[in-house]
Amino acid sequence: MDGFRRLGAMQLSAPLQAVTSDPFPASYSDRVRKIGVVNTRNRLITQAVSRLLDGPQALRRAIIERLIVEGYRFDQVMRDDEALEDFIRKAVIGVWHASCSCRMGADDDPMAVTDPQGRVRGVHGLRVVDASVFPVVPRANTNFPVLMVAEKIADAILDG
Ligand SMILES: Cc1cc2nc3c(=O)[nH]c(=O)nc-3n(C[C@H](O)[C@H](O)[C@H](O)COP(=O)(O)OP(=O)(O)OC[C@H]3O[C@@H](n4cnc5c(N)ncnc54)[C@H](O)[C@@H]3O)c2cc1C
Repeated sequence: MDGFRRLGAMQLSAPLQAVTSDPFPASYSDRVRKIGVVNTRNRLITQAVSRLLDGPQALRRAIIERLIVEGYRFDQVMRDDEALEDFIRKAVIGVWHASCSCRMGADDDPMAVTDPQGRVRGVHGLRVVDASVFPVVPRANTNFPVLMVAEKIADAILDG
């Protein structure tokens, strides 16, 4: 709830309000899951709706309220703790970026499972080369950082 409120406050700041409109609390709902299936029907629907969303403000607002928002309005969850908690309990999901379960780190870091070359401390001949060695969850998507970790550790292996 604290995280939501912080982001919500940013959304309500003047610089962001100047370049955006009609914020709404989004969730990966059944409706979103269904419209995310790649098929001709969904392609046509999303193409049409996206054009309408770029249309007049009143139309955009009506579409968001009737088709996109599912029960919770941004202004409501920002001022009503019960509604915010309810929304979060229904809407929160993981975002597929599992990582950091055996982080790499410096010698004096008691939580570091591997050294900076991915070598597992205390185990000879074993390296970890995947998202689990990230010290913290990256702000961006994780696939590319996994490739970068792999390149870095592959170089370390080749260097002996
Ligand atoms: C649905 C979904 C969507 C995503 N979308 C994006 C995206 O759009 N962009 C992005 O950047 N990231 C995305 N990610 C995240 C990204 O895919 C992962 O962070 C990344 O693949 C992690 O790489 P990894 O090598 O750590 O693990 P994984 O890719 O999971 O690789 C682990 C491998 O180990 C194998 N394995 C497991 N157990 C054993 C065993 N006992 N013996 C042998 N092999 C084993 C598995 O089969 C698998 O091949 C998404 C993830 C998911 C789940």
